[in-house]
Amino acid sequence: MDEHIETRAIHAGQVPDEETGALMTPIHANSTYVQDGPGDHRGYEYSRTGNPTRTDLEANLAALENGAYGRCFSSGMGAINTVLNLLDSGDHVVAGNDVYGGTHRIFTQVYEKYGLDFDFVDTTDHDAVRDAMRDETALVWVETPTNPLMNVNDIGALADIAHDHDALCTVDNTFATPYLQRPLDHGADIVAHSLTKYLGGHSDVIGGALITDDEELDEEIGFYQNSVGATPGPFGCFLVLRGTKTLPVRMDRHCDNARDLAEWLADHDAVSKVYYPGLESHPQHDLAAAQMDDFGGMLSFEFDGTLEQASTVVSETDVFTLAESLGGVESLIEQPAAMTHAAIPKEERLAAGLTDGLIRVSVGIEHVDDLKADLQQAFDAAL
Ligand code: PLP
Repeated sequence: MDEHIETRAIHAGQVPDEETGALMTPIHANSTYVQDGPGDHRGYEYSRTGNPTRTDLEANLAALENGAYGRCFSSGMGAINTVLNLLDSGDHVVAGNDVYGGTHRIFTQVYEKYGLDFDFVDTTDHDAVRDAMRDETALVWVETPTNPLMNVNDIGALADIAHDHDALCTVDNTFATPYLQRPLDHGADIVAHSLTKYLGGHSDVIGGALITDDEELDEEIGFYQNSVGATPGPFGCFLVLRGTKTLPVRMDRHCDNARDLAEWLADHDAVSKVYYPGLESHPQHDLAAAQMDDFGGMLSFEFDGTLEQASTVVSETDVFTLAESLGGVESLIEQPAAMTHAAIPKEERLAAGLTDGLIRVSVGIEHVDDLKADLQQAFDAAL
């Protein structure tokens, strides 16, 4: 029987402990495993290679993504690094021009010197993506929705372009989560996650994952997982497993709150623009409605004021915490021009639509009226 995702979130990969009957996966704080004879082990040899707490999480995440295989890492960047390990020197990668800054950094500042070549293009423009493909292109890297302008990319179309060139398509599904969007169903080869965000869900753990349906690819990923060693500890895996159980209920509230807040902001005099795929005014609203089950908990808006006034807004909130990151139960607020994207030269930043007044929020699961009241008093303080 194909169980619903709400059921899989709680039960997939979760088997009561055979010896004790413990319902929850134990935290196997353990580095090595007894062997009954040389090489004769019971499935585990050494915890970098495999750990039972991690195995349960990997099975749980694979089930959520409708994938066959999951592998976990010590961070989202550890997972992203492993996708790049699959490539050879001389290979070329086409990626979105608004990928997460850390992804852009590892591509250009770590892997270019090993002979990989990267092109960053507007992945909503499929002609631009096709034009960027070369004989050496081995990977198309997609995020959707993107950060902070919430562009929505067509996973099926981009996977087709990748496959026409015998390239892999990897989708970073951190923003949407498998509750809202399952990229393997749309043709992606690998799904990447920062578990640090919605899947962990409580801002108390750093982790990453890769999920695929392809056994050979999974084996290769497993080889690099073990060889590079960016693997998570059992306590981190336990925390993420604890988080995935409530993913569906948390995401429902994140989505409801974000939709309500987006509509309120869109009508607000102090706000000139709202970026949220759930608004009909969003340029890819129809695509988002077809590709996603709901529109997520992330949104950005332009406060109609100066850089300093927008800084006042993000500094004056009480319920929203001024912090980077996202996906926890608590609402976070940040100002890309002064924080996450401050390193980009102003001209370039403005050309990319990252205006001085742009504010990004990770909408938490508090009462939405408290979130509105908090933003209103912060707007009043800034104006
Ligand atoms: N992918 C996305 C979309 C992210 O937002 C982040 C972190 O912010 C990462 C990957 C990296 O994940 P981590 O911070 O867990 O290494």
